[in-house]
Amino acid sequence: MEVEILELEVPFRDPNSVFVYFLDSKILIDAGFCSIDNAERISELEPEVAVVTHHHVDHVGYLFFSEIPFYMHPAEIELVKIYEKPETFIDWQKEICRKYSISSEYLRPLEVLSKLRLRIRGSLKSSEELKLQTIVVPGHSPGHICVFADNALFSGDAILSETTPNLSFYPHLEAGLGEYLEALENIKRMDIEVIYPAHEKRIDDPTERIDALIEHYKERLREVLEILDEPLEVEEIARRVRWSVDYEKLDPLNRLLANLETLAYLSFLKSRGLVRVIQETKIKFFRTSCGIKTL
Ligand SMILES: [Zn+2]
Repeated sequence: MEVEILELEVPFRDPNSVFVYFLDSKILIDAGFCSIDNAERISELEPEVAVVTHHHVDHVGYLFFSEIPFYMHPAEIELVKIYEKPETFIDWQKEICRKYSISSEYLRPLEVLSKLRLRIRGSLKSSEELKLQTIVVPGHSPGHICVFADNALFSGDAILSETTPNLSFYPHLEAGLGEYLEALENIKRMDIEVIYPAHEKRIDDPTERIDALIEHYKERLREVLEILDEPLEVEEIARRVRWSVDYEKLDPLNRLLANLETLAYLSFLKSRGLVRVIQETKIKFFRTSCGIKTL
C-alpha cells in the first residue's frame, strides 16, 4: 500500500495542522479543514473517494467543496449536518450548559459557526464498497472510525501520539468512554505495526501508546471519584481535575471542552453505579458507596 501524507494548515493554535492520508493514489482518509485553500490542495491529488473519521471541522472540509463519494459512520453523518444548520448544534450545547449549570459564556466561541451553511455534495458509499476495514472507536466523537489497511491504522483523533484525545458528551448518542476503552483494547489485539493519527507524529509503538491512553483515562476516572467526596456540580468538578493546563488558564472554548469531558467521565461512572446524581436546585454528582470501595 502506498501512503502519501498531506499536512494542511488549520486556523487553530493547538493543533495548527491536520494530516490527510492518500492511499494508493485513490482513497483519501479525512478531508482537511473547511477552507478553499485546504480543498484546493486536496483536489490536486484527484482523489476518487474519501473516508472521513469523524465530523469535526478539520476533517470534513473537502466534502463541502467537491462531489467526491465518501464513507462516514451514520452517527457522524447526522452530526455533519450541523454545518448546514449550526443553530441546532449551538442549541444542544446551550441545553447541556443550562441543565448542568455550566457557564454559557463558554459558548461564545461557537457563535462564529452560526453563519455557516455547508452541505455535503457527494454520494454516500458503504465501507464494503470501498473494501476497507473500518473500526468504530467512539469517544472523541460518537461514530468516530479508524481505518485498518496493510497493518497500518489510520486513527483520526481517536489515538494521538502526544495528546490524550478530548472526550465528547452527546447525551442523545449513547457511545461514550466505556465503548472507547473497549475499542482501544480490541485495537491492541490487532496486528498493527504503525498508527497514522490525524494530528501529531506517527506512532511506531502502538501497544505502548494505547496502554498509556487506557491508563490515563482510568487514572482520570479515579481522580474524579476522589474529587467526589462531597456533592459537586459539573464545573466544580472540572475545576478540580488536574488537566494538562490548569482550568483557570483555559480559554472559554477549552473550558467548555473540559466540562464536556468531565460529563463524559461522570456518565461513565454513573453507568457503572459509582456515582449518583443529586437533584437539588442544581444537578450535583456524588460518589456512591461502591465508588468509595473502588478507590
Ligand atoms: Zn476531532
